[in-house]
Parts: sequence; structure tokens; C-alpha cells
Amino acid sequence: QASEAASGLTGPGETADGYGVKLLANVGSAKNVPAADEAHAEGVGLFRTELLFLDRAQEPTHDEQVAAYREVFTAMTGRRVVIRTLDAGADKPLPFLNQDGEPNPALGVRGLRVARQRPQVLTTQLAAIAEARAQTGADVWVMAPMVSTLPEAKEFAEAVYAAGLPKAGVMIEVPAAALRAADLLGVVDFLSIGTNDLSQYTFAADRMCGDLADLLDVWQPALLQLIGICGEAGRAAGKPVGVCGEAAADPLLAPILVGLGVTSLSMSPRAIPQVRAALAARTEADCRRLAEQAVAAPDAAGARALVS
Ligand code: PEP
Ligand code: MG
Repeated sequence: QASEAASGLTGPGETADGYGVKLLANVGSAKNVPAADEAHAEGVGLFRTELLFLDRAQEPTHDEQVAAYREVFTAMTGRRVVIRTLDAGADKPLPFLNQDGEPNPALGVRGLRVARQRPQVLTTQLAAIAEARAQTGADVWVMAPMVSTLPEAKEFAEAVYAAGLPKAGVMIEVPAAALRAADLLGVVDFLSIGTNDLSQYTFAADRMCGDLADLLDVWQPALLQLIGICGEAGRAAGKPVGVCGEAAADPLLAPILVGLGVTSLSMSPRAIPQVRAALAARTEADCRRLAEQAVAAPDAAGARALVS
């Protein structure tokens, strides 16, 4: 293992010239932590908390939530864990929220929007996260899904701090939020770009619709441009901007995301080794040059051609 580390295959993510990019794992529960460890993930960049809420008529109790969060935090002692508050609705329907009547669930009351109708669900979850954190040694960051505006981000951050949690962030999944990334960074500590939903909403293409795969292509220059707006905002504010959607798992795209200003990549653990190797093969200047060219490309094929 020592020689693997020396050759850059298991060490922290970095470019050929030593510019650090955190390589993090997406997990749904403590069951995924061994795979993250095997891939030498530097932490968790997306802890999806929906699992605990699925298939239930009632929301899980405070104590049940503390137990589930504590399992992951304990396994990640000393490392970063970005935990996402409940992302219900649309592709993740939850029985206890009774949302069956929505004509357009992807455009409905989903993600953080659920807190408009059921603020107590968020309050309970934040209290449980705070308690689990207090019992463990993980570096816990909390973020909200499906944020569109500055007031939403501000209200969420206030709720996070009120629960005694030190770091609040928002996911960038809606084009309106990407366009206002600089404003959002005025009220939160970090951004995390969810490219699965950001593609869906940028191209008005259902993420579940295989026939529209070309529109949902993570190499689409318009998507990369929105990511670049967030990256620039992060550089200006000196705050972290991660990617935690599928785009983060594409080794060819990783240098471009870094060139756009992304400071961490969170993905399914099995994708980490290839992304680590891809970053190690490029300098930061290469990344910036490729990023500029990719955004200027006329289409996804043109962007892809830059690196193949
Ligand atoms: C995303 O939208 O890119 C994301 C990471 O969240 P999810 O896939 O859980 O919606
Ligand atoms: Mg999403």
C-alpha cells in the first residue's frame, strides 16, 4: 500500500503540480463506508439521508435518526462528512409526506421546499444531526437540496446554525441558484453542485428519461458554464465548491471541473481511483485551459473531443 500511495493511487486527490482536490464518497448509510475506505475516500461529500425515510408511514424518530447518522459519523472520525437534509419528492417520493396529488412532482414541493409545509421535519433532522455530531468526531457539514433563491439559503443556514451546527451549505441543482452563486456564498459556507438535477432543470429534460440522454450529457457546455459560475464565485469568496452528481465520476471530465473552480469531487466510491489518476495526470494550468475550451465548445461532442 505504501508504494501505491507513493505513486499517487491512494493518496489525497491532487493535480500533477500538487493542487489539492478532495476526493469524497457518496453514501446512503454506514453500509457504504467500507467501499469508501477501500477507495481511500478523504471523507463523505454526499450522505443521502432519504434511505431512513423510505417506505415509512411516519417519519423516523429523533433517536432513530441520531443512531443512523452517528454510525456514519463514527466511521468517518476525523474526516469530512457532508450530510444532506431530506431530499423528498419527485424521483424520491416519500409516503409520509402524501404528495401524490402533484401534477409535476419534479417542479413541486420537493427537497428543501418541503420545509415550507412541514418545518418540523427539518428542525427534527437538524437536531438529530447535531446530537449525532456531538457524540462523534467527524467534521460534519450540512447542506440542503433544491435551493433556488438567496432567502431560501439564508433561512436554511440560520436553521443549521441555530441547531448548533458549524457549517451550512446549499446544493446547486437549479439554474437560478447557479446564476446567483456569489450571493448564496454570502450566506452559506460552501456549495455542492448536484449535476443530476442541474442537468434536468437546465435542459428541461426529465432525468429519468433515457430518450433524452443527449440533453442530460454532463459534457453539455451550458451545464459546464453554470458550474463555472459557481466555481468563480467560490474562488472569489475563498469558499469550497464541490460537485456531487454523476459528473464527478467521469475521469475525463474531472480536470475540467477542477479548471472551472471546483474544489472537491464526490462520487460513488468505485469511481474514485480513476478520477484520482486522471487528476494526477494534469497540471492545474492544464485544467484551467481545458475548462475554458470546454465552455466555449459548440456542443457536448466538441467538449469531449478536447480530451479524447
Ligand atoms: C444531484 O441531483 O446531482 C444529486 C447529487 O442529488 P440526487 O441525485 O440525490 O438528486
Ligand atoms: Mg438532486
